[in-house]
Amino acid sequence: MLITELKARETILSLAEGKVFIVNCHGCKEVHFPEQEAKALQKEMQEAGKVTGIFTTDYICNPENMKLRLDLHKAEIDAADAVLVFSCGVGVQTLSEYLGNKKVYACCDTYPLPGFQGVTPLEYDCKQCGECYLNLTGGICPITACSKSLVNGQCGGSKNGMCEVDPSMECGWERIYKRLKMVGRLDALKCPVQIRNYATDDEVKKGQE
Ligand code: SF4
Ligand code: SF4
Repeated sequence: MLITELKARETILSLAEGKVFIVNCHGCKEVHFPEQEAKALQKEMQEAGKVTGIFTTDYICNPENMKLRLDLHKAEIDAADAVLVFSCGVGVQTLSEYLGNKKVYACCDTYPLPGFQGVTPLEYDCKQCGECYLNLTGGICPITACSKSLVNGQCGGSKNGMCEVDPSMECGWERIYKRLKMVGRLDALKCPVQIRNYATDDEVKKGQE
């Protein structure tokens, strides 16, 4: 079970550069989605003339199903400068991969709750870290794609693009670099060192009790 919470209003509005296409995933029954808050913010963006289309569905983490439904909105997506995704981290990763060189941004943070998690394709895993980094990493999760869950960049140990901890897997930070380059967002790597907000980490909170 997990919960998605909207990122700060200012953060979401700052992601709406130019025109945007919006995807809402009402999720599986294992995900709480902040429907009313998302709707209000999206209405605001629509009224400002920023939105080329809104697509609301469930299970965008199911790539095959999602592709079929999303293809019906191709013209609206093409007309947008970026796609804003209101879903858990798995949904955002699935869309980023599918949309290739389109900018895809996460508008929610994902928190864990005890219980069953729902359908999660392993290649797009989300550890529900509570402070989603996908907007800085080209839609590839640094927590799950890097063996050390590094959030500030590569450890420097990769060899020929493969991870030093697990040589059978591609280095997550090399994948992030390639994706950012492809979407013309290498500037994201120039941002100041990201300080993890451990106040959102459930395990840490438990330890402090
Ligand atoms: S950074 Fe990764 S683990 Fe954290 S919420 Fe985003 S997808 Fe999930
Ligand atoms: S080699 Fe890459 S994936 Fe492996 S631990 Fe280092 S940064 Fe992370």
